[in-house]
Amino acid sequence: MAVSQQDSKDASGIVESRLLIVGLGLIGGSLARALKAAGFKGEIVAWDRDADAIASGLEMGVIDAGGTELGPLVPGSSMILLAVPVLAMESVLRTLAPLIENQVVTDVGSTKLAIRAAAERVFGSVPANMVLGHPIAGSERSGVVASDSSLYRQHKVILTPQANTHPEALGRVKALWSACGAEVLEMTVERHDEVLARTSHLPHLLAFSLVDTLARQDDRLEIFRYAAGGFRDFTRIAGSDPVMWRDIFSANRDALLTALDDFESGIARMRRAIASGDEDALLATLDRASHARHYFDTLLNKTRYQTMESRNVRYRARPSGSVSGSIRVPGDKSISHRAIMLGALAEGVTQVQGFLEGEDSLATLQAFREMGVAIEGPQQGRVTIHGVGMQGLKQPAGPLYVGNAGTAMRLFAGLLAGQAFDTELTGDASLTKRPMARVADPLREMGAVIETAKDQRPPLVIRGGQRLKGIVYDMPMASAQVKSCLLLAGLYAEGETRVREPAPTRDHTERMLNGFGYPVQREGDTAWLEGGGRLIAGPIDVPSDISSATFFLVAAAITPGADLTLEHVGINPTRIGVINILKAMGADLELIDEREAGGEPVADIHIRYRPLTGIDIPEAQVPLAIDEFPALFIAAANAQGITRLRGAEELRVKESDRLQAMADGMSALGIKATLYEDGIDISGRDEDQEAEGPSYGGGHIDSLGDHRIAMSFAIASLRASDDIIIDDCANVATSFPGFVELARRVGLNLEEQT
Ligand code: NAP
Repeated sequence: MAVSQQDSKDASGIVESRLLIVGLGLIGGSLARALKAAGFKGEIVAWDRDADAIASGLEMGVIDAGGTELGPLVPGSSMILLAVPVLAMESVLRTLAPLIENQVVTDVGSTKLAIRAAAERVFGSVPANMVLGHPIAGSERSGVVASDSSLYRQHKVILTPQANTHPEALGRVKALWSACGAEVLEMTVERHDEVLARTSHLPHLLAFSLVDTLARQDDRLEIFRYAAGGFRDFTRIAGSDPVMWRDIFSANRDALLTALDDFESGIARMRRAIASGDEDALLATLDRASHARHYFDTLLNKTRYQTMESRNVRYRARPSGSVSGSIRVPGDKSISHRAIMLGALAEGVTQVQGFLEGEDSLATLQAFREMGVAIEGPQQGRVTIHGVGMQGLKQPAGPLYVGNAGTAMRLFAGLLAGQAFDTELTGDASLTKRPMARVADPLREMGAVIETAKDQRPPLVIRGGQRLKGIVYDMPMASAQVKSCLLLAGLYAEGETRVREPAPTRDHTERMLNGFGYPVQREGDTAWLEGGGRLIAGPIDVPSDISSATFFLVAAAITPGADLTLEHVGINPTRIGVINILKAMGADLELIDEREAGGEPVADIHIRYRPLTGIDIPEAQVPLAIDEFPALFIAAANAQGITRLRGAEELRVKESDRLQAMADGMSALGIKATLYEDGIDISGRDEDQEAEGPSYGGGHIDSLGDHRIAMSFAIASLRASDDIIIDDCANVATSFPGFVELARRVGLNLEEQT
């Protein structure tokens, strides 16, 4: 067959002059109606073995002509679409074979290997003009009478082109489905059948089987009478067409049997847990399933993961708040991320306590589950990771989604560069705008193969099976994420990987690697490790996150009468910039009961109000407080005199351009600030302002979806003269779940509105 290009496109963008639908049932009829609704100007004709179906199609206006003989319908058609049951495709193809001239042929069958094999038997090989496809849309009803013009709108259609498929034929089939409002994807025939076996064929089989099993029991009437919503939801699909499903189960036998084997072992595990009274194992399975369900819902609906909040969460903070009490803020985000990553690669079981159940770390956890790591929890901060060893990760079925987590994306890039398989890393809208060159370039120097979207932004496609070699890397800008990324890639590299930092950055990765028995050396400004070692599992007690504690430290530091204790806070020397800076500004702050937890230093922090003074922030402190600056700017706005920050250009490439976002927000409250490329000058309180009175006004702030900007302006309200309204606060859940409740507990007058 040779492709015949029709010369004119109609309003729907389709070039076909006449479409022949073979089999006028639900799927074929719905396509005809969708095309007509989309303004298709060509002719739609149909063949069906049943004259009544053709008569109904004509009567309903679904088709322009039709009949029960194929011979007269094929000539003059530009495209032929096969919409008969899967096992009927071969006989239809045999009838068509001598009639076809230059038409594009496509199909809608629910399995693809069997149809490709049928085409090979009929034609010798799959013709270049034949494009196999499958709309992922349908219903339990059948026949043209059940057809629906909106069936494919916002549904996926999978096309499975072959190496020899003519691009023009592919383009024309794509145009057809796109005009119906479908999203068209491509996949191999084999992958299609594997994926569909798990996502569609297995669940249908289970539903049919469950209903049949119950329907054979003596008390079946009773059972069905009392069957409630759960039974009806689960078994709805058992009402589907038996012939169609017999065909699908037979045609996709191998993939379906593999899916059934996996399912049976899962069921056997649950059975054992129930029989032996192993409630922990049972709960772990249910918990994993429930998390996975929410997670995938979010992905599919593109809504927030944990709380399903809309993006318009708004805070209203009133000025009358106070700050007192003793609280524990959630676990450290950086340590939670790394605990999952290293626990997954370790040999043995890692028990984690104090895990941050924020959206970012949950996305990391889910990503490892998708790479075959069994992880139980989280349950009240406890997670159990069954490590698979350095070489034990498996290729995930699709792209790994890390939500809003820049840290996760950069650390993953290093870790995945050394795997044997390809992966794709993607994130939410804000993350996909952030630059990845800083990690991609040095990883490429190590031998990694990484493809990025435009301007080196995500998604990142990381090609597996590369031989990485250690490098000596001089970081142009101090960044713990870049250092950690390279050290993680270094685990898989030949020889030593050395990273020199121009200023000290967080060393959680090094500490935790050492904790897992993997030696990381340090001398002066350089950290290095030798590739090819092993990680040994051990317990991890995650300290409270000093970045989250910061909002309350600043809240207490600026609020007259405040007296607050923050418990079990991580005081890693690479993170205590905020403590040093607040102390330099005159804050009344002391560390109590300094101790070690899991290789990390922790303490309780007691802070009371004392007036602050503006300072020139020492540049050496900048990398030690990089995430804390939005809150520290609020401290500066409440300090006497000017606070100057320089050497902080990294703030421009965080979740938002934090220098600009804070300057804009502060200006809305009447705070004076001058921006520089790498910093800011903030004018605090004048000497003549009333000692304990407000420092600035109220106003309306756009947090730009940046959690730290949102929380900083929430605490700013403690010294504002009027309400502060903050928009776009849903992302606070990424790092600080429960922020509003905790803020209210210490005395802030903060309300969340959706
Ligand atoms: P349908 O409504 O039952 O229509 C099937 C059509 O094929 C009818 O016109 C039927 O003719 C004809 N047919 C049945 N057996 C035949 C045979 N042995 N030889 C020739 N023609 C035969 O089914 P459908 O839902 O449209 O399904 C059509 C195709 O779409 C199948 O390959 C199915 O796997 C695929 N699909 C279905 C769904 C879904 O949810 N329904 C979703 C995606 C893809 P009669 O009028 O004489 O019965």
